[in-house]
Amino acid sequence: MLYYSTNKTVKDVALSDVVIKGLAEDNGLFMPNYIPVLPDMFYKNIDKQEFRDLAYTVAYMLFGEDVHANVLKMMVNDTLSFDVPLVGVSDRIYSLELFHGPTLAFKDVGARFMSRMLSYFIQREDDNRKVNVLVATSGDTGSAVANGFLGVEGIQVYVLYPKGQVSPVQESQFTTLGRNITALEVDGSFDDCQALVKSAFLDKELNEALKLTSANSINVARFLPQAFYYFYAYAQLKKISEEAAANMVICVPSGNFGNLTAGLIAKKMGLPVKRFIAANNRNDIFLQYLQTGEYQPRASVSTLANAMDVGNPSNFARILDLYGHSHEAISKEISGYRYDDTQIADTIRACRHETGYLLDPHGACGYQALKDGLLEGEYGVFLETAHPAKFNETMEQILGEEVVLPDKLVEFTKGTKQSLPLPADFAAFKSYLLKNA
Ligand SMILES: *Cc1c(COP(=O)(O)O)cnc(C)c1O
Repeated sequence: MLYYSTNKTVKDVALSDVVIKGLAEDNGLFMPNYIPVLPDMFYKNIDKQEFRDLAYTVAYMLFGEDVHANVLKMMVNDTLSFDVPLVGVSDRIYSLELFHGPTLAFKDVGARFMSRMLSYFIQREDDNRKVNVLVATSGDTGSAVANGFLGVEGIQVYVLYPKGQVSPVQESQFTTLGRNITALEVDGSFDDCQALVKSAFLDKELNEALKLTSANSINVARFLPQAFYYFYAYAQLKKISEEAAANMVICVPSGNFGNLTAGLIAKKMGLPVKRFIAANNRNDIFLQYLQTGEYQPRASVSTLANAMDVGNPSNFARILDLYGHSHEAISKEISGYRYDDTQIADTIRACRHETGYLLDPHGACGYQALKDGLLEGEYGVFLETAHPAKFNETMEQILGEEVVLPDKLVEFTKGTKQSLPLPADFAAFKSYLLKNA
């Protein structure tokens, strides 16, 4: 499979280059030349398959021309070493729990898959300089990428995160690892971190001196494997009820929109999703676009659902591309909702009291959007993108009850924080990389 850039001046790029480069040279995002469609038989029997097996079928359609079948199978099995259960929460609303991976957030899937794929492609290259992975994080990306890449040979990871704006538990997951993981604490916002990383990829001098790539959802190997669990959501819902599966609406708490875009691609591969809902916090640039047809990125604001604090969602370019830049087509497929912090807290409380289910602040946006947007006869699945204990201080303030940290998280918090302060200034970042990478 070959790939083109959403800016259309770069085309027919091999997957190995797409994964190693991250962003296209014209600053666009890579897209597959075509989207393979799975036969009806696959969907008919999907509920009889294990997660890993159905994910492998999907992976083979997407990556089978470029990665040896045995290796691809290993990548899938290695990535999906944890379950993604579908749990009923309230009437016709289900939670797809994506938080049973090593860092308790959905990004474990993409990060683990990408680390295996990148390592596979760099081993096949003649160039044996190490690859530097730059990743901007508002919390969860950093931990998932750092843990996914920890100890992978030939790869050095730099995690840039906004000082004081990630929860202590999140911070501990990428600042305590050491080895090939370096945490850079930026005196600025998440958007500043993302801008630093973007500028680095566009800087000629830097790219001549160093091999740089991105592990944000701009990277195909990070965002595309997220399609796997949409198929599994359908498979599990079908097992519960054929009627529910035939009327499935998927709601995605969104920030950079990589997760949602993977779902849109799953639908183009034939997955019977009736429609999508994008749930936002106060950073509702996408909702504004749906309502007005105008895309107006703006500075992000901090909210309780901090992994969704994104003012200029990078995968918007992919969504436009998938629907031929038609606002009408996009609005037909996706609707939007937004919730402020008070509403997020109210939802967490109400859901806990009415159903017993514990939502995290991101999942709360997803759950509430289904409550508000689900039509009669529809069945809603929201992606529960992180374990509530990752935000235990917030959760305790909202609920007045203790949220127990799973053992996996306790281990991280025991480590010593190691991070380097960095101003939100590209010249400083560049000279740091040139000196240290
Ligand atoms: C990253 C993240 C999101 C947003 O996902 P995108 O793919 O950037 O839209 C939502 N919730 C949590 C917990 C996250 O970590």
